[in-house]
Amino acid sequence: MTVRPEESLDPESWDEFRSHSHQVVDELFDWLRTVRERPVWQPVPEEVRAALRRPLPVEGRGLEASWDEFRRSVLPYPWGNVHPRFWGWVNGIGSPSGALAELATAIINTNAGGGHQAAPYVEEQVIDWCKTMVGFPSDASGVLVTGGSVANLVALAAARDAGDPRICEEGLVALGGSPVLYASAQTHNSVDKAARLLGLGQRALRSVPVDPEFRIDLQALERAIAGDRAAGRRPFCVVGNAGTVNTGAIDDLAALAELCKRERLWFHVDGAFGALAALSDRLRPLVAGMERADSIAFDLHKWLHMPYDVGCVLVRDREAHRRPFATKASYLAREARGAAPNDHDPGTLGPELSREFRGLKVWMLLQEHGVAKYARLIEQNVEQAKYLAELVREHAELEVMAPVPLNVVCLRYVGKKGEGRRGKGEELDALNREVLIRIQERGIAVPSATSLNGRFAIRVAITNHRSRLDDFDLFVAAIADLGRELSAPV
Ligand SMILES: *Cc1c(COP(=O)(O)O)cnc(C)c1O
Repeated sequence: MTVRPEESLDPESWDEFRSHSHQVVDELFDWLRTVRERPVWQPVPEEVRAALRRPLPVEGRGLEASWDEFRRSVLPYPWGNVHPRFWGWVNGIGSPSGALAELATAIINTNAGGGHQAAPYVEEQVIDWCKTMVGFPSDASGVLVTGGSVANLVALAAARDAGDPRICEEGLVALGGSPVLYASAQTHNSVDKAARLLGLGQRALRSVPVDPEFRIDLQALERAIAGDRAAGRRPFCVVGNAGTVNTGAIDDLAALAELCKRERLWFHVDGAFGALAALSDRLRPLVAGMERADSIAFDLHKWLHMPYDVGCVLVRDREAHRRPFATKASYLAREARGAAPNDHDPGTLGPELSREFRGLKVWMLLQEHGVAKYARLIEQNVEQAKYLAELVREHAELEVMAPVPLNVVCLRYVGKKGEGRRGKGEELDALNREVLIRIQERGIAVPSATSLNGRFAIRVAITNHRSRLDDFDLFVAAIADLGRELSAPV
């Protein structure tokens, strides 16, 4: 037998590797420091996309070559969410010390699915801090997941199985009557996804109409529940919104908590970004009632700017949280001593088993900055949204399309009022769609789009600790210029 020399993935020279590492750290932090000087976004050129369609490398090209490829094909074409004028969808922007924490996470590379090690204790601490942040009781259960979507899924799995413990064994047929849940028509699509993934089906999710402020219509909700009960169906859950993705609307969460108690329904809150308003003394009243929920989902990678990805789900009833995810597998048995999992065991609290130690960055960043600073940054964004809405309202050619309770401003170009509006309906939609695309393509700013009452809206969601007031001045001027340019007679 010929013996091959043993190999590993460690560098041949740690000294060379270390100097390469120092250089890329310098280079990447310079890139981050100068982000404001570059366009917010630019498209990925065809030749770059072509370079990203190569066959599987059989023999490696080495560290330098792979970094050069990263510098050429990836670094110049980010989505732009770390830029001060990125306000599209809902994105956090990370932070320099967040990146360092990620480096530590990757270097220790522990599997935080369970096991007797520091990681689960750190995460338990983080979960306790999360409970304090949103006003949940200290004996509630919780786990860190990849984000709001999985957090909603975990909570709704717990809600489904709490409806009837036989579901775990026998599935939904055990119910003898279709289970239904309720959420406003403005609810995030991750709730639809969860309904489908959990075998409930899209139609089990009742889309309840909203009032003019885009909050769930409580009377319509009560009628829907009564109608379903009368028809022999099984209402089991109401999802309330603490900040909808479209406009930042906050349902009357205290009223929903009352209603759920009366109707014996599980009350879940999707607070992806809005739940964090509770950090601010000034904003907390907006989300009052949230702390009475049976479960709550929120992101730490959005309004707290933790590096992607990390979200949190809290569930009041520990047993209910565990039920869909508990395991009897012999290879995962707990032991009181040794390295095996013991008390806090994230692998039994969600769909993941092997998982990143995503609590480390949260733990480090909360210690570094303190929650008061995060509260100020959230208030800053809410102030900026009010400022932007005011600029738009005062502008002769622009209009605000929805109330601005939090950090989301929906607006459009309408033209000068006296000069006959630039078309109605579809024409105006098409014009604004073009304004939006151009402002992105010119690299000026990245808002996103949505539809409100059937009309196209340019949507600015401010979860960005780098934005300044003059970024909004520049943005408003650019939108008005583009609107004028595009609606000028040819
Ligand atoms: C972003 C968002 C989600 C989904 O969270 P992810 O972290 O993207 O999975 C759910 N609900 C609302 C209101 C959101 O804004």
